Amino acid sequence: MDRVILHCDMNSFYASVELLDHPDLRDRPVAVCGDPESRHGVILAKNEGAKAFGVRTAETVWQARRKCPELVLLPSHREKYVYYSKKINAIYERYTDLVEPFSIDESWLDLTGSLHLFGGDAKQVADEIRKRVRAETGLTLSAGVSFNKVFAKMGSDYKKPDATTVISRENFRDLLWPLPVSALLFVGRAAERTLAEHGVHTIGDLAVTDRAVLMRLLGKAGATLRAYADGSEHSPVVPLRDQPPPKSVGNGCTFPQNLTGWEELRSGAAGLADSVAERLRQVGMKCTTVQVTIRDPQFRDICRQRRLEAPTFVTRDILEAACALIHAAWRPDAPVRALTITAQNLLPEGEAAEQLDLFAVNASQRRAKLEKLERAVDGVRQKYGHDALSLASAARGEEKR
Ligand SMILES: [Mg+2]
Repeated sequence: MDRVILHCDMNSFYASVELLDHPDLRDRPVAVCGDPESRHGVILAKNEGAKAFGVRTAETVWQARRKCPELVLLPSHREKYVYYSKKINAIYERYTDLVEPFSIDESWLDLTGSLHLFGGDAKQVADEIRKRVRAETGLTLSAGVSFNKVFAKMGSDYKKPDATTVISRENFRDLLWPLPVSALLFVGRAAERTLAEHGVHTIGDLAVTDRAVLMRLLGKAGATLRAYADGSEHSPVVPLRDQPPPKSVGNGCTFPQNLTGWEELRSGAAGLADSVAERLRQVGMKCTTVQVTIRDPQFRDICRQRRLEAPTFVTRDILEAACALIHAAWRPDAPVRALTITAQNLLPEGEAAEQLDLFAVNASQRRAKLEKLERAVDGVRQKYGHDALSLASAARGEEKR
């Protein structure tokens, strides 16, 4: 029996969340960006109105304004997106315990085992989920229904906003095969170019090209993409709780304006260290190595790493290690365009016992205190939202003393 897979994709998620607080702007072209005051701020999301003017994600405010002078810019609020994402996934979980978030605003649901509880018609259930999400959050989504994950995702892309598309064994050739290969999940520019050179332009072309030929052109990815195109992809929907623990946890940021000087660099690093440590605590892992990647305005990267004295998931330990790396590798007056902090060599919390020696006793007591404090912060944030407490600024305050 075929599986019943749903892919739900929120429509213009960031922009729609921001517009909940500005209903009067709903019919105007609106974009969300990091720093609306800066011409060099980057567009993170836009609504349908802005899309109609050709405003694109990742371009600068200045470029977007040139296409659409009346564009309304709103600042972004990460904590709101996380809040709504959790709320929406909780709605999905009323329909199945197999919910796999793909990004902050997209999830797969495997309804195979629970469909009969909700009437047995997958399209009707998808429509009901769209209505529920809209009623409880004010946000709309597009849903795709199919017999595998890739086609379900293509279904949610097929008609936007606020629609359900069923991709069945009967109609997938008609609906999907005429689309360009670039519409397929994970087909990047390079693969698209290689395929085009060999006369493979549409998903249908890809689906009927010899598998061995594709593997010669694209390696293993060739076989994967062929399975995506011909409908034989069959990977399971894996909820977060069943996914293997991460090998590393990283967070990076391209700053709206280049950072210069230790103070700016430290405050840039503090936000990143905070989110990396929080994520480590969420997954119950400690890191023994911290890596920092620094990008200059010419897009040159340097990458440094350091082993820690003891495994940690404490913000301040990660921040101190990152700052030491930056200090050792960077001139304070040289501008930084982007920073990434990655926690590596992860150990499950329980296995990360420190080798205690006489001199480390104090350090380990100090760490135990910090762990307790930061766990408490996680608790407060869970209850009251991410910005209720900022460890990053706490850590900065500590430094000045
Ligand atoms: Mg979306």
